[in-house]
Amino acid sequence: MQQGFLLILSGPSGAGKNTVLDAVRRRCPDVVYSISATTRPRRPMEEEGRNYFFLTREEFERRITAGEFLEWAEFCGNYYGTPIGFICESLARGEVVVMDIDIQGARQVRDKMPEAILVFLLPPTMAELEKRLRGRSSDSDAAIKRRLETALDELKAGIEYDYVVCNDKVERAAAKLEAIITAERCRVRRSEYFQVVKDIVGEQGVMRQDDESAAH
Ligand code: ADP
Ligand code: 5GP
Repeated sequence: MQQGFLLILSGPSGAGKNTVLDAVRRRCPDVVYSISATTRPRRPMEEEGRNYFFLTREEFERRITAGEFLEWAEFCGNYYGTPIGFICESLARGEVVVMDIDIQGARQVRDKMPEAILVFLLPPTMAELEKRLRGRSSDSDAAIKRRLETALDELKAGIEYDYVVCNDKVERAAAKLEAIITAERCRVRRSEYFQVVKDIVGEQGVMRQDDESAAH
């Protein structure tokens, strides 16, 4: 069985993470998506359990205390967190799990699971980012202003990531993400390489015991 992994997608609000992930979903139907919990109000087009699990602050805080999140953070005044159960079950099945989380959450995941792959989605320009945030017409003027201010700090954190993808055109950005997933699946340590070699040469074959841990 291939080994699964976590792929984290971060980037300023409005960069197009949801839009690009929808396109990746069509290209890679076997990739699974982590649904976050949040205390942010639901937007008109959003559905409970499809976009987010919408919780009260009290319920969110109860789940923090109960250890139900792999990571959680406060972003622009609301809590967001990744339910840990789904992540553990998916990885145990060898699946590739995509998470759309902010940089605070990405840092927490990287500390706990250094194997996670971090991808940063860039907007082509700040003017285009503002245009996209306003065009989405789902946040108040004050919320948009706060998200644009936050974007300046988020952009600086891109340096901590493994890959960067510019979302100029949705399909082009989705193709790059698909290429990253494909390449990461082919890493020797995650691939079927060891099983295939064992099948051919047997357990006592040319493979030394420490070969597996040396693969990267
Ligand atoms: P995020 O999930 O990063 O907050 P969204 O996916 O909600 O961002 O996208 C924000 C807005 O920008 C949406 O209205 C979306 O249709 C639009 N958008 C996303 N990607 C592009 C693109 N490459 N070109 C033009 N508009 C885009
Ligand atoms: P939005 O309110 O636009 O849906 O999301 C705002 C920000 O919260 C985005 O940067 C998104 O990546 C981030 N986010 C969404 N879910 C999670 C999560 O589970 N954990 C963390 N840390 N951030 C999240």
